Amino acid sequence: MEKKVAVVTGASRGIGAEIARELAAAGMYVVINYCGSEEKAQELKTEIEQNGGEASIYKCDVSDNVACKEFIGHLDVLVNNAGITRDGLLMRMSEEDFDAVLDTNLKGAFHTIQAVSRQMLKQRSGRIVNISSVVGVSGNAGQANYAASKAGIIGLTKAVAKELGSRGITVNAVAPGFIDTDMTQSLPEKVVETTLAQIPLGKFGVPEQVAKAVAFLASEDASYITGQVLHVDGGMVM
Ligand code: NDP
Repeated sequence: MEKKVAVVTGASRGIGAEIARELAAAGMYVVINYCGSEEKAQELKTEIEQNGGEASIYKCDVSDNVACKEFIGHLDVLVNNAGITRDGLLMRMSEEDFDAVLDTNLKGAFHTIQAVSRQMLKQRSGRIVNISSVVGVSGNAGQANYAASKAGIIGLTKAVAKELGSRGITVNAVAPGFIDTDMTQSLPEKVVETTLAQIPLGKFGVPEQVAKAVAFLASEDASYITGQVLHVDGGMVM
């Protein structure tokens, strides 16, 4: 049997890298997309190969529609994970910071899904998993741009699930809570303290826990699940 092909956007670091490892361990050929961290992407490819898997790396800025059309070829699984933050209170947020976050986090997913949908419709199968966030559901002061992009991901997921469902394609979202990666490394002590108090399980998550949920939604076992948002947040939002 031929290997299934999976593309993971923003897979050079953090959650995306862990998703790439997990899908490779599940027997898929993984395309590690990156934007700036070429060395890290290359290291991950080598690691996956040393563990008996298959992978390649591909540089593409997901906010660039034309580049996404060139990047996305035949594939079975698409994971839209690439994401950035440009935090600040709304009153002081520049239009540039608002647009940058929306362009990468939300339009990036639109670009890749549009690029892959014709081919998935033809093959009458496919799995799309979009990474949202707990703040896309609950909002967060200082993250109007980021929260809007992640709430947008949920709407996009549900709309596309309805459009593609009749051809056996599932589209789901995973909404992580606070996960220990570069993105959460620079949070002020005070924010960490107050956030921890809102998490019933009492700790931040690790990328592996998100990756397992993504791998499940990308697997055959999840064939009757579509349009859903799976929360991986220690119970932060119920
Ligand atoms: P990191 O900052 O650790 O990694 C971000 C990844 O996205 C990097 O691989 C980076 O690639 C890539 N990336 C950024 N911009 C682009 C772009 N324009 N095109 C392609 N790739 C890009 O983030 P996390 O691993 O923490 O987050 C991964 C996803 O999970 C994001 O969507 C984030 O919003 C979401 N999330 C994270 C949470 C957390 O607590 N960490 C909580 C909830 C959601 P490169 O370095 O090569 O530029």
